[in-house]
Amino acid sequence: MSHDQTKKILSNLLGYFCMLIFFSLTTYIVYIFYSAIAPTVLEEKQYGKFLFHFIFGNWLAINIYFNYIMACFTSPGLAKDYQHLARQYPTCKKCSLNKPPRTHHCRWCNACVLRFDHHCPWLNNCVGFYNHRYFFQFCCFMSIGSFYATIFGFREFQISRLRIQLFRHIDAFYKIPDILEVLGVDGFVTFYIFILALPVACALFGMSCCHGHMISQNRTLVESLVNEKSDDSLPSNKKTRMDNWKQFLGVSTLYEFVGRNLFPSTHKPKGNGITATNYYDGNVNLLSNHDEHGSYASNIYNRISDNYLVKKYHTELSVWNKPQVLSREWRSIVQTC
Ligand SMILES: [Zn+2]
Ligand SMILES: [Zn+2]
Repeated sequence: MSHDQTKKILSNLLGYFCMLIFFSLTTYIVYIFYSAIAPTVLEEKQYGKFLFHFIFGNWLAINIYFNYIMACFTSPGLAKDYQHLARQYPTCKKCSLNKPPRTHHCRWCNACVLRFDHHCPWLNNCVGFYNHRYFFQFCCFMSIGSFYATIFGFREFQISRLRIQLFRHIDAFYKIPDILEVLGVDGFVTFYIFILALPVACALFGMSCCHGHMISQNRTLVESLVNEKSDDSLPSNKKTRMDNWKQFLGVSTLYEFVGRNLFPSTHKPKGNGITATNYYDGNVNLLSNHDEHGSYASNIYNRISDNYLVKKYHTELSVWNKPQVLSREWRSIVQTC
């Protein structure tokens, strides 16, 4: 068995294990809501409270499951499926496929991924052009859901079992024997799952903020890391943060945002993942004016026969952390095209 195959099998095993943990814990919390918390709330005739938590909790659960499943099973966009649009780009050293700008080779999947962000073991999938939105929305909804489970579930679970809240977050860690005695082993496990939701919520909230910051700058995680290391800035971005968000979320208006992002939707991001947008050289946006058959950039390529210049432009494109340093010869050719 080759090294790559072993790596892929290990990555899949880890991925299935992570997926199992996600589905078990999330489904268990939903089960506790319906089997223990909801009947108690109804018994006490708190119908308003029940209705709020029924609607809000289900809305969160549906969005969490939907975005997770879509992020896991949507292809991030593999360069091998778009080679007919990418012939003008340099080839990958590892898989020899043409590699459009912002494409990176994932060593776990052994494939070149369009607008590669990172490989996520929790999804058992790469996060790239076509599933980045699902990944980001999953992080946001899961973070809200985990805070919600900790705050609401922690208290209500105790009330449903004991008719009173005995333990609080702050003292729960020091009263393990008491909790075991009062709630039994199964109650103890459930109790700590609600507590476990708090660090999960904090971690996901932090991750959502970091990704939100990168999205507003139209950067991927890998581009941010490269940029940090090289201490250079990315191409000047003439689009506003709002434009970057609209492009990422695939919406244009607030109405579309509510319908497409706050509820399950399978719409695709704008663009094709081959011709990267927001790539600027001075006043000329090289790659944003693409059509369905190709790109403004590829038209320029076709009109340039000087291999040296094309090669130089390739190099400059592929070095994503220094793209603003386009050569004088290239600049003059762009301006005359
Ligand atoms: Zn590759
Ligand atoms: Zn991958």
